[in-house]
Amino acid sequence: MQRFQQYIGGAFEDGAACFESLDPATGTAWALMPNASAADVGRAVDAAWAAFHAPAWAGLTASARGKLLYKLADLVQAAAPQLAALETRDTGKIIRETSAQIAYVAEYYRYYAGLADKIEGAHLPIDKPDMEVWLRREPIGVVAAIVPWNSQLFLSAVKLGPALAAGCTVVLKASEDGPAPMLEFARLVDQAGFPPGVVNILTGGPAAGAALTSHPKVAHIAFTGGPETARHVVRGSAENLASTSLELGGKSPFIVFDDADLDSAVNAQISGIFAATGQSCVAGSRLIIQASVKDAFLNKLKAKAEAIRIAAPDQMTTEVGPLCTLRQRTRIADLVAQSLGQGAQLVTGGVVPDGPGFYYPPTILDCSGLPDAAGLKQEFFGPVLSVISFETEAQALALANDTVYGLASGVFTRSLTRAHRMIRGIRAGVVWVNTYRAVSPIAPFGGHGLSGHGREGGLAAALDYTTVKTVWLRTSDDPIPDPFVMR
Ligand code: NAD
Repeated sequence: MQRFQQYIGGAFEDGAACFESLDPATGTAWALMPNASAADVGRAVDAAWAAFHAPAWAGLTASARGKLLYKLADLVQAAAPQLAALETRDTGKIIRETSAQIAYVAEYYRYYAGLADKIEGAHLPIDKPDMEVWLRREPIGVVAAIVPWNSQLFLSAVKLGPALAAGCTVVLKASEDGPAPMLEFARLVDQAGFPPGVVNILTGGPAAGAALTSHPKVAHIAFTGGPETARHVVRGSAENLASTSLELGGKSPFIVFDDADLDSAVNAQISGIFAATGQSCVAGSRLIIQASVKDAFLNKLKAKAEAIRIAAPDQMTTEVGPLCTLRQRTRIADLVAQSLGQGAQLVTGGVVPDGPGFYYPPTILDCSGLPDAAGLKQEFFGPVLSVISFETEAQALALANDTVYGLASGVFTRSLTRAHRMIRGIRAGVVWVNTYRAVSPIAPFGGHGLSGHGREGGLAAALDYTTVKTVWLRTSDDPIPDPFVMR
């Protein structure tokens, strides 16, 4: 069995305890992962703390930090095929997707490399003649970064990139599900030449996560995961009063009006829900469709869904692979059964296939007339699309906002004015109009409500990893008068 190591203080080490990682395509153990203990987490935070204050990192210019990030970007690009193969092996995400996504991850590091020496302070036109006052943007300190299993290299790049650009040091906890690509990525960090302790990478479950988020030397927690875990994270932050950015789940509406280019919308909906086997925070998992085109749209969607090639994730021709874990498949099957019990109609899919691996077929549930069905309320994090129809634009908007989440949304219409009304009305961090799933390092990303708070991507994300120091400098050479001598 292949054995992976954790990376603490610039050294690779076997964990004192290990756990087996399963290949989701077969369900069999294929690798041993170090299971970080609370003591390991403590050592990693201490290493990050020491590195934060040491001249080897603290004394670098912002441009020099940028150069290290450019180096890392080049290494990620060169290693993309190997990293993609590892992610596919350990998480079941199909090779087509991991290859394309990891190649693009390099662009995130490049973007933040370029930003490192553009994080500027400010000079204030202060209301006192003998004072100069300015603001320094300084790195916030040790960052705890926690990611879930889906797209770990991508989800860590949107944390590591801005954190390192700002001058922070990081302890990154990979998910206990599918951590192989992150542990391999640590070798690239090492090769890039970051001083020891600047980036530490380990893996483990809730215990390691809790030890990390409550550690007194952690200044900021960048978390991606589910809302329930986020509550633990926020409770953990009550110990160290660290700031948090939370990228959580979604139940994103995908709204199609009858004037839309239906063929384009069908294609966008197929990738919107079935890409990454539905294990995507932005999955367009609620199709809100105008009643007049519902049947035509569903017929096209059903035909495409049933033609999807479900096969081993390491084949370039595969379009949907297995889910990452058996636990995830069981949860999805239960939620589908619950929705059907509530009256939803099965359009296609919904049957757990025989055979090895954690496969689940692309599934469509018609929940029209059942706005409270599980299919429309709960995040499945799997390849299940729930459908509800509407008659008027006002109904479409009300349905779109009938959720505790607020991450992403999609609107398909040819009417410019309606598009603008919907953009204004939808409560979500991202609105895609006549497209879906587009992302870029330049564009902020995040949500509100139970989808979390804070933004990743863009300049603002780098500022989250800084703190402002206000400097007052007296310019007068006159002695400061004795305050107790009355004048
Ligand atoms: P999860 O919340 O179960 O786990 C996420 C991470 O938190 C894992 O690394 C896990 O080990 C860690 N963790 C578990 N308990 C912890 C604790 N007590 N303290 C600290 N850390 C702890 O999430 P998941 O099920 O692995 O991932 C799926 C969720 O992630 C979905 O809700 C999905 O929508 C969300 N997600 C959001 C985004 C986004 O950018 N908004 C992106 C991807 C996934």
